[in-house]
Amino acid sequence: MDDRRRPRLGYNSYMLDISDEQFDAIISQAMDELPSEYIERLNNVLVTYEDEPSPEQRKQLKLRCDESLFGLYEGIPLTRRGNGYTFVLPDKITIFKKPILHFSHDMASFKEQVKRTLWHEIAHYYGLDHDRIHELERKSQRT
Ligand SMILES: [Zn+2]
Repeated sequence: MDDRRRPRLGYNSYMLDISDEQFDAIISQAMDELPSEYIERLNNVLVTYEDEPSPEQRKQLKLRCDESLFGLYEGIPLTRRGNGYTFVLPDKITIFKKPILHFSHDMASFKEQVKRTLWHEIAHYYGLDHDRIHELERKSQRT
């Protein structure tokens, strides 16, 4: 038997195919589904998407070659914005399509993961650290 066609790294072999237009629409839909008070207080934040983290982002985050990322928050969290916060470039939240695709077994799980990733990155905007984020994520998964 020829093993070479086996999917690597345990990824599922039924890859969804999602165009950028679809991905954009899925992100917008996920934003609409998040609690409105969570979204309304976003100020000077750009939400965008890429296929995967850039080499620069990988380097900055010290990602190993077998590690990837669903999303990334870059900017100045609300809790660190003082009076001097004017004429500042917007914060950027990037959602990465390919890594999420690799871990989604169908459209529903893909959409769910996009929503979770957005929530996670927006939590960073509100100044939450990973300890707190993971605590909240565990809580939301129990309900
Ligand atoms: Zn994070």
